[in-house]
Amino acid sequence: MNILLIGSGGREHALAWKISQSPSLNKLYTAPGNPGMAGLSQMVEINISNHDEVINFCKDKAINLVVVGPEAPLVAGLVDDLTAANIPAFGPTKAAAMLEGSKGFTKDLCASANIPTAAYVRCNSAEEAFAKLSQFTLPVVIKADGLAAGKGVVIAENMNDAQAAIADMFDGAFGDAGAEIVLEEFMVGEEASFFALTDGVNIIPFGSAQDHKRVGEGDVGPNTGGMGAYSPAPVLTDILQQQAMDRIITPTVRAMAERGTPYSGVLYAGLILTDEGPKLIEYNCRFGDPECQVLMMRFEGDFAKLLLDIATGNLANAQQPQFTNDSVMTVVMAAKGYPASPIKGGAINNLDIAAQTGAQIFHAGTAMLGDQLVSSGGRVLNITARGNNVTMAQKNAYAAIDHIDFADGFYRRDIGWREIAREAA
Ligand code: ATP
Repeated sequence: MNILLIGSGGREHALAWKISQSPSLNKLYTAPGNPGMAGLSQMVEINISNHDEVINFCKDKAINLVVVGPEAPLVAGLVDDLTAANIPAFGPTKAAAMLEGSKGFTKDLCASANIPTAAYVRCNSAEEAFAKLSQFTLPVVIKADGLAAGKGVVIAENMNDAQAAIADMFDGAFGDAGAEIVLEEFMVGEEASFFALTDGVNIIPFGSAQDHKRVGEGDVGPNTGGMGAYSPAPVLTDILQQQAMDRIITPTVRAMAERGTPYSGVLYAGLILTDEGPKLIEYNCRFGDPECQVLMMRFEGDFAKLLLDIATGNLANAQQPQFTNDSVMTVVMAAKGYPASPIKGGAINNLDIAAQTGAQIFHAGTAMLGDQLVSSGGRVLNITARGNNVTMAQKNAYAAIDHIDFADGFYRRDIGWREIAREAA
């Protein structure tokens, strides 16, 4: 089959890498792609916001499946328009992508389907939010309703900070995303990510991961898109995964179908493992970045076929996904100054030497300047390695990184620290 993959990050490089190994693939196009994907696909310039342009390209190239990597085109309804044009697409419709696009929507759905999550209220004005703050104990969590690239969440330790965050959000700190907010109870426990694939009816678990959102070692400093991840997350035991499937994922998929907005694609649940079991923090309607990188390294099988089965409602006939038994870790190399103001244009050398260690290097914010590979974004490279456990995977990832010459880059040296401490105990 011919596939068009949309996106340009490390997640999409990992998807392209796995799709390109699929026996059922004929030709892979990526739009816009990145230098790491050049050898795996034909990179094409299409205006993704112009859905007619995407549809025309698909017709012209006899595309059998479109795989949408990032959330923005999903929330913009790209899958709806492709489906209307009879082009199978992997990812949810605009209405189903509300599970990520509106936190208030998801909280209401959880309430109606009895899905474990934090107690909450939705507020449409600062006055309403100030008044409802007293229903919560401290710390209290304040969230902009819409997409805010991971930055629209404030955990306030005192009421002054809570009021300031509320005022900021209604003042437009996150644009339209903050036109409505959600106040939430603070949940205590370790966080883990759990993935499921669904065609709207059939559901299969698709592995676990843990990531590190803060920029600094020891999980300090500002939030980022993610500085590293590993899979599986042993803390999410088989029993806890089953609970997550039974209490969270399955009721969500059923509720979405009952609403007339069936959810198809990958459902990525951000969980918190509380004393009462796993509770939902939030849903993402696409693979995580960098969690996708570690999942793709572990998945074994014809990934293109699996994605097509989901897009065409045939998941019931698909094989159960198989994963390697080892641990995989990815460490993000970012440009100095990230996340506030990353330096762009820094030269990157010796990736070929680093790859000889056996690590897989996924590109994110890279570009070619003539013959020279340079940084072009905040998160630049994802160095991804295997090991018998998280400790070994980390050792192998850092052994590869040590060969990379990227003077304007930095990375955390403690990715996986929680699990590594448990393995040492
Ligand atoms: P991202 O895009 O980075 O996934 P987001 O903006 O969609 O983030 P959430 O995932 O809902 O926001 O929240 C970000 C982080 O805030 C969570 O990873 C978690 O650490 C913390 N958090 C959110 N809600 C709660 C809660 N109710 N209790 C405790 N911590 C929370």
